[in-house]
Amino acid sequence: MASMYTYHPATKPHLKPSSSVVSPRPPTLALRSSLFRSRIPVDLFSIRTSLNGPTGEPLGRVRVGSKQVVASQHSFDVLIVGAGIIGLTIARQLLLESDLSVAVIDKAVPCSGATGAGQGYIWMASKTPGSDIWELALRSHQLWESLAEHIHDQGLNSQELLGWKKTGSLLIGKTVEESALLERRVKQFSEAGVEAEFLSSRELLLKEPALSVDKESGAALLPNDCQLDAHRTVAFVEEGNRQFASRGRYAEFYHDPVIALLRSGKNGEAKAVLTAKSTFYCKKAVVVASGCWTGSLMRDLNIRVDVPVKPRKGHLLVLENFNPVRLNHGLMEVGYVSHQQIMQHSSVSAAGLSNDEEMLSISMTATTDTMGNLVLGSSRQFVGFNTEADASIIDNIWKRAQEFFPELREMSLAEIGKNRKVRIGLRPFMPDGKPVIGSVPGLSNVFLASGHEGSGLTLALGTAEMVADMVMQNQGKVDSAPFAVEGRCCR
Ligand SMILES: Cc1cc2nc3c(=O)[nH]c(=O)nc-3n(C[C@H](O)[C@H](O)[C@H](O)COP(=O)(O)OP(=O)(O)OC[C@H]3O[C@@H](n4cnc5c(N)ncnc54)[C@H](O)[C@@H]3O)c2cc1C
Repeated sequence: MASMYTYHPATKPHLKPSSSVVSPRPPTLALRSSLFRSRIPVDLFSIRTSLNGPTGEPLGRVRVGSKQVVASQHSFDVLIVGAGIIGLTIARQLLLESDLSVAVIDKAVPCSGATGAGQGYIWMASKTPGSDIWELALRSHQLWESLAEHIHDQGLNSQELLGWKKTGSLLIGKTVEESALLERRVKQFSEAGVEAEFLSSRELLLKEPALSVDKESGAALLPNDCQLDAHRTVAFVEEGNRQFASRGRYAEFYHDPVIALLRSGKNGEAKAVLTAKSTFYCKKAVVVASGCWTGSLMRDLNIRVDVPVKPRKGHLLVLENFNPVRLNHGLMEVGYVSHQQIMQHSSVSAAGLSNDEEMLSISMTATTDTMGNLVLGSSRQFVGFNTEADASIIDNIWKRAQEFFPELREMSLAEIGKNRKVRIGLRPFMPDGKPVIGSVPGLSNVFLASGHEGSGLTLALGTAEMVADMVMQNQGKVDSAPFAVEGRCCR
């Protein structure tokens, strides 16, 4: 337990990006930001420190090429790169289940990545029984439910703290074919031990009166599916993690991009990561949970794996405090499930927008969140790391929602005016549709946890448990083999 930190409280860092660094401020920058911006390749083996290994916090000298710069140094058992839902829940799991010290480092703040855009479904309905991801999703779902129950048992309110609602999920079909598919899925879910029921169009309308249904419509209802609010949940997880700060076991370093990895001359294992401001030594492990940036970060860190993760942009439309449509369940059109797989066709052609490169798809998703906002989604497209709002996509999300909710046909988006917001995030997409979770071949103390695409909130607690078990060398609860780095991320 090397860390010597005193915790400096900060106000909700992810909500106030400009004041988000909650760690002790390093007195001097370690590496100039110009070095980072110019992406001068840092010869990792040429970086030397004038001190003999980790020393806690005091200053040291770091040589980068011919330059010697003064750097602040920190030492933890585990370093986690990325403060999205995956990185923060891994930190939580390690703090709760071990006596290791943990630092979370982010180039920005929590919720600035995909996590901040997430709609909040904690769903089995969008997973396929028997698929590689099924067991992990089941375990994760169970862990989320236990967490919500635990909060409740302590006399606290999980709806307030997590935005938690056990609404159940409705996967909706509009055609005879889609309804037949849903009937088959319900059977599959039941056989896999997950409670599910097929609803005829009449039954569907009774459950969800705001929907427009015709006689071909049908739905799969999974009564145990839930939803949460990503921002509230992240705030809750951070708050819990910070309880360990006064014991010297936890610290957060935000607005501090990781730019290099220092490897031990003895066994080649990771010894430290360098950020724009500091050197962080690790005694046990480095966990890379940097979402869609993981592939480029591996290249920057000179790690010889090729993680084929790509940013898959998503838009959501939030209608604030919206009374005309109030939902009892989380809703999704069945086409959404196939959109998680890249090769499937889109359910709406989004005339004039779609092109093969971007592979734009838009499927109806709808939830009423704990604040009474109607959250409508969602789009999927490949446009690199661009996060600008695209008015034509918002328009198409709106049009698609109008097909499901007659009340919306009576109004235009312009009328809703100021009471609408757009959320945009980059889902970390893996071409084979499953996250990569495991140690890097040849670098056994570096672990990846990335590529959760549109299911990172659902899969977070299961992923966190899996990674923590790997770090602590415990037997896992779920088989991690399908998520291994080896064979999927080769150079
Ligand atoms: C519109 C939309 C709706 C969604 N809805 C749902 C849903 O309903 N249910 C669900 O389960 N999932 C949903 N998702 C998916 C879910 O949000 C993601 O899978 C999840 O947030 C991924 O979490 P992450 O921690 O891996 O990545 P991120 O949240 O992107 O976090 C990665 C972090 O790494 C940091 N980072 C990157 N590079 C560096 C570096 N060099 N140094 C330091 N830090 C770095 C970034 O700043 C970022 O904070 C949705 C996503 C979108 C976009």
